Amino acid sequence: MIIVPEAAIADLITPQASFDAVEAVFGAMSRGDAYNFPVIREAIGHADALYGFKSGFDRAGLNLGLKSGGYWPGNADKGLTNHQSTVFLFDADTGRAKAVVGGNLLTALRTAAASAVSIKHLARPDAKVLGMVGAGHQSAFQMRAAAAQRDFEKVIGWNFHPEMLSRLEATAGELGLPFEAVDLDRLGAEADVIITITSSFDAILKDAQITAGTHLACMGTDTVGKQEVDAAILARASVFTDEVAQSVSLGEAQHAVKAGLIGEGDIAEIGAVINGTHPGRSSAEQITLFDGTGVGLQDLAVAAAVVEIAVETGVAIEVDF
Ligand code: NAD
Repeated sequence: MIIVPEAAIADLITPQASFDAVEAVFGAMSRGDAYNFPVIREAIGHADALYGFKSGFDRAGLNLGLKSGGYWPGNADKGLTNHQSTVFLFDADTGRAKAVVGGNLLTALRTAAASAVSIKHLARPDAKVLGMVGAGHQSAFQMRAAAAQRDFEKVIGWNFHPEMLSRLEATAGELGLPFEAVDLDRLGAEADVIITITSSFDAILKDAQITAGTHLACMGTDTVGKQEVDAAILARASVFTDEVAQSVSLGEAQHAVKAGLIGEGDIAEIGAVINGTHPGRSSAEQITLFDGTGVGLQDLAVAAAVVEIAVETGVAIEVDF
């Protein structure tokens, strides 16, 4: 069995390798070659922790396994990351344990890769302004991955806690892009691509703020009750997602579906666009929205990519198990 510790991941996987792995598995999901198992998420009644599993099997990539982990709110006081996760991979032919891989950095990379995949396939080719809503841990990864998909000339951003905007400014600077903090009216009016990555429970962006031709990647809503954009935006947009079942139950689409504004049949899989079985964006004026809910198969895909690179570069720790 191979072990790839959390500390080794940053030197092994690149954003491009994460992107390729996630794009491939979304395609496999849409072809019916890969499927996610039901998610387990429990409040364990200790340390205020939420703990669970996301798991699945990709028959095409032969990735079988799970990501185990969750949220420990007291970790920051101990100098640890509140979100903790570990990926376990199993040999699909024998069921034997194949690898244990640190999952913290990989979670950020696979989430950023998902919105980047949506930008590649759905944003207007001439998109110039990237709008960021959210400035937490994930936001920097999101911006870096998005920047690789279009020739953005500028990043604009808004955050509920303005003191956190410095993260967006620093990340844009790293990418050589100018950054401007703006209000939500300007963000909606000027951005060609908008990424929302917050833990909000109320719509931040209102319908009237979103202009024709925008691509939105709504990445923060991964739980029942969370919400980042007005449900009416989903009624007006062409809606895509990683997995329809999650989108309607715990993703951004949950609110529009509950309000009767859209139905399950109005939501397309991004994998269908990747595979060429859905045309994707049909005009420069169309609003496209990707509801990125986060699936276990993304975790398995990037973890498997890391294991491959770790073996190739001789970094993998092998143990008899
Ligand atoms: P974080 O705690 O580092 O940052 C939270 C962000 O949400 C900050 O920008 C903060 O200002 C904002 N925020 C907090 N309360 C708000 C409110 N009431 N209204 C508006 N904004 C508010 O979190 P993070 O690690 O950056 O994660 C952000 C979100 O992304 C979380 O909801 C997380 O669960 C989600 N997430 C989704 C996926 C996925 O696959 N879709 C993966 C990882 C994380």
